Amino acid sequence: MARRLPTLVIVGRPNVGKSTLFNRIAGSKIAVIEDMPGVTRDRLYAEAKFKDHAFTVVDTGGILFSDEDPLIEQIRVQAEVAMAEADTVLFVVDAMEGINPADWDLANRLRGFKRPVVLVANKADNASRALEAQEFHSLGFGDLFTVSAVQGVGIDDLLTYVTDAFPRDVEGAPDEELRLAIVGRPNVGKSSMLNAFSGDQRAIVSNIPGTTRDAIDTQVQWKGKEIRLIDTAGIRRRGKTQGSIEFYMVLRAQKAMERAECALLVIDGQEGVTDGDKRVAKTVHDMGKPLVIAVNKWDLVEPPDGCLGLNSAAKKDFVRVFRNEMPEVDYAQIRFTSAQEESGMDGVMRAAFTGVENWKFRVATGPLNRLIQDAVFEKPLTRKGQPLKVRYATQAETCPPTFVLFCNDPDLMHFSYQRYLMNRIRKAFPLEGTPIRLVARSSRDRD
Ligand code: GDP
Ligand code: GDP
Repeated sequence: MARRLPTLVIVGRPNVGKSTLFNRIAGSKIAVIEDMPGVTRDRLYAEAKFKDHAFTVVDTGGILFSDEDPLIEQIRVQAEVAMAEADTVLFVVDAMEGINPADWDLANRLRGFKRPVVLVANKADNASRALEAQEFHSLGFGDLFTVSAVQGVGIDDLLTYVTDAFPRDVEGAPDEELRLAIVGRPNVGKSSMLNAFSGDQRAIVSNIPGTTRDAIDTQVQWKGKEIRLIDTAGIRRRGKTQGSIEFYMVLRAQKAMERAECALLVIDGQEGVTDGDKRVAKTVHDMGKPLVIAVNKWDLVEPPDGCLGLNSAAKKDFVRVFRNEMPEVDYAQIRFTSAQEESGMDGVMRAAFTGVENWKFRVATGPLNRLIQDAVFEKPLTRKGQPLKVRYATQAETCPPTFVLFCNDPDLMHFSYQRYLMNRIRKAFPLEGTPIRLVARSSRDRD
């Protein structure tokens, strides 16, 4: 069952403490987005938990604006994100500074919002500031909470109030045979791909009611199998400024991947591999979900039927560049498509099914231990005069396959050796298309 999480969106003019509050709420349960040039904060989205409630929290301070974007534009985009994504909005103001014209701006944009808007006066570090903060009532929102994000004061009351209003256990439709999210930069051909999948069977295509705010999934049949395309509404969403496009791209991809089993990353075959493509691929990788790459608009590179043909020099070149640029996702299958000509679509679907099947694969403990022992024997590892010994290996989890190696000293296992062992595991078992994980533990942990 695909469950959706309620979403809390934090808005407010710069410097009121959005990011500090976000970190407070997210606590240690955070999704770290690393290496993301173009996004000012390294975290803009997190899954958080308060008592029994799991929810998503979004920091709109993470939207990147250029120096030319005036404050009013930032406020406008924040409000737009809130409208689209939020079940509840946290409207943060600064109790140290008092009401600011930009607060009025944002208040006006949020007025009439159908879902709860909770006004949070931050930096109420002491009682007198909390008292003064009452002036924010004039912004015209019923609920006002005074907090100090830095000190952690007032946060529990705020979250109790907010999470009590969340719907409980919202459930999606029953599991389909495949839940696929089409992700990628604007204009690469995601909507065209969606249409190509729906194809002549448009009659049986149905939109199923949203599971996240404003998210609509589309159910299609492919070769007699039920496929749910996740958040097809998000595909059409466009930001107006560069910063919000970037933000949306990553945010929607992450939100969609929460519920999807597999990502289809569409990239533009004419443009080659861009930073934006890499960012989305890394997001999917970090979430531990299978990934298929559709190199689209290939009809502009080779004749339309070239998508199906044997590996041409152009294709080989593309694959080489991609593998070079994105070594982390070397397991992802690459397919060449023309969504416009509806060419290459079968290959994409087959790759997605394979990826998900392998994502659920379980390796038997016996063969796994033999493989690891052989691998260590053939390429022994000694650091600081100490040899690595793996006493026992097991696959602790599926989705993605996660291998735990109990060794004499886990610190010996450095990155490249880990990579060596993962490659050995990949060669021996059907794991194409899915990320895998390897964890080294001290063998004493077993007792
Ligand atoms: P954002 O731009 O809205 O995300 O604001 P930040 O979270 O980056 O915070 C802006 C500044 O306000 C930082 O210097 C924070 O340390 C400070 N700040 C945040 N919360 C509080 C608070 O509760 N009390 C005080 N005194 N300062 C705070
Ligand atoms: P999205 O923003 O990722 O959803 O991209 P669209 O599906 O809206 O496509 C952007 C543009 O690229 C449109 O003008 C499409 O007609 C065009 N396009 C999409 N796929 C292909 C393709 O395979 N070949 C060619 N030549 N054009 C394509």
